[in-house]
Amino acid sequence: MGKPTGFKEFNRQTAVEREPMERIADWNEFAEPMPIVELQHQGARCMDCGIPFCHTGDIMANMAAGCPVHNLIPEWNDLVYHDQWEEALDRLHKTNNFPEFTGRVCPAPCEGSCTLGINEPAVAIKTIERSIIDHGFEEGWVVAQPPKTRTGKKVAVIGSGPAGLAAAAQLNSAGHEVTIYERSDRIGGLLMYGIPNMKLDKAIVQRRIYIMEKEGVKFVVNTEVGKDIHSKELVDQFDAVIIAVGATAPNDFFARTPGRELKGIHFAMEFLHANTKSLLDSQHEDGKYISAKDKHVVVIGGGDTGTDCLGTSLRHGCKSLINFEIVPEPPAERAPNNPWPQWPRILRSDYGHQEAAAKFDYTDWEQKLRKHDPREFSIQTTEFIGDGNGNLKALKTELVDWSQPGSHGGAPFTPVPDSEQEWPADLIFLALGFRGPEQIIAEQLELETDNRSNYKAEYGKYTTRIPGVFSAGDCRRGQSLVVWAINEGREAARECDRYLMGVTQLP
Ligand SMILES: Cc1cc2nc3c(=O)[nH]c(=O)nc-3n(C[C@H](O)[C@H](O)[C@H](O)COP(=O)(O)OP(=O)(O)OC[C@H]3O[C@@H](n4cnc5c(N)ncnc54)[C@H](O)[C@@H]3O)c2cc1C
Ligand code: SF4
Repeated sequence: MGKPTGFKEFNRQTAVEREPMERIADWNEFAEPMPIVELQHQGARCMDCGIPFCHTGDIMANMAAGCPVHNLIPEWNDLVYHDQWEEALDRLHKTNNFPEFTGRVCPAPCEGSCTLGINEPAVAIKTIERSIIDHGFEEGWVVAQPPKTRTGKKVAVIGSGPAGLAAAAQLNSAGHEVTIYERSDRIGGLLMYGIPNMKLDKAIVQRRIYIMEKEGVKFVVNTEVGKDIHSKELVDQFDAVIIAVGATAPNDFFARTPGRELKGIHFAMEFLHANTKSLLDSQHEDGKYISAKDKHVVVIGGGDTGTDCLGTSLRHGCKSLINFEIVPEPPAERAPNNPWPQWPRILRSDYGHQEAAAKFDYTDWEQKLRKHDPREFSIQTTEFIGDGNGNLKALKTELVDWSQPGSHGGAPFTPVPDSEQEWPADLIFLALGFRGPEQIIAEQLELETDNRSNYKAEYGKYTTRIPGVFSAGDCRRGQSLVVWAINEGREAARECDRYLMGVTQLP
């Protein structure tokens, strides 16, 4: 512990973000670097407590409490305080292959279980993590480290999201020859084509891919396993296969809602993927994206995906923007049944909410319950309304009451009488989560799936029913977080290495 009184002397500060009205005019990252001296103060706030829950990564109340990759947080906090950045970077890379991704996009369950957070604002762990790795790149300390010897074993990784990348990086470091197959034209999975540029600059993703290439990982893009190559061919050609294809099949709760077929209703990923691709290909010159310019936009569903739809619509220049969530509004502070060190289930204002609140005056909406940002809670869509030519014009909603569960095992809420409302809508983005992975590889290899259609493999072992075939990330655990995907990719690599060599040195 560098400074025993640090938490008394310094207030929590996180990365400064550019002004919402300034940043919605471009696609650059909104978080700005923090000065070194300020970061040292933030590191000094860490109490190096006896039992640091921040790095446990336990599941409590169905959520991660602490860091899922078990980052050695108190150690690098102390090193940052003492200005030993290279040593801090070394500690960080021991547990996390890609801190430049988590330092930008992780919701930071570590901070939810920081001991200081019991009665003071938690240590700014995520900001410190990002700064350590950004500083490392600036100083030229992050360089390719190819393995000294090769084992002669060949591993195929299917999918290049954070799970596939982490697995590949680890297996390559153990000396195996790794080839990643990716169906998109760019590597990175949702790091590339899900999370938008203003949250995670794609140059940052590409920078890591170049390093992995120099280390010897091979990338094959525009190749869909199951279609362009039969899955069995990969199993025959390689000594082991890791499936990390993500959970990409979207949920469509509105399949039977009147008007669902109208033009203007899209899954969120259709919007986000095309937007980033067009941005990277041509700075949007090619026009190959769904434009929200001058449109009334409604985003149905929350979470990161919903927020990213808000931020993207604003940057296009939408005419109005509203966000519906069927769940009730979370409390401002932890509820009694949600104690520390559990993940705090509280109302958070993410970047897209802040930007929408800066751009639009939400006090104008009639019958609106909340006045400060685009979110409406406890509301469900009952009908999509067309203009008579097959185009979306509006949607109808009603409020729901979660204190009154429906009868006979129906919905856990009841509609509120006389709460119907109509909202103008030219575009609707459905951010309702994902059903699970696509099934083609499971079918071709006759793999077992669990009751949520995920590729079945035990957590910690990752092996499917076929020896030498492993699954990891969202396709195994269901839709989750980048940090969990990295955790699973690393651990699956460890088990794969054990399978190939009989023993393993991988963590
Ligand atoms: C819009 C959005 C925003 C998000 N924001 C955040 C956030 O801010 N923070 C956070 O922690 N998490 C966020 N998440 C969740 C996070 O991105 C995922 O949990 C994580 O990327 C899962 O990693 P993965 O490697 O398992 O799968 P993915 O990242 O989904 O990667 C799977 C890859 O496999 C490829 N693939 C699929 N099938 C095949 C095939 N047959 N052959 C070849 N390739 C194939 C896909 O093209 C894809 O590139 C977000 C998710 C979405 C959708
Ligand atoms: S990866 Fe996420 S949980 Fe782990 S230290 Fe970083 S911000 Fe915290």
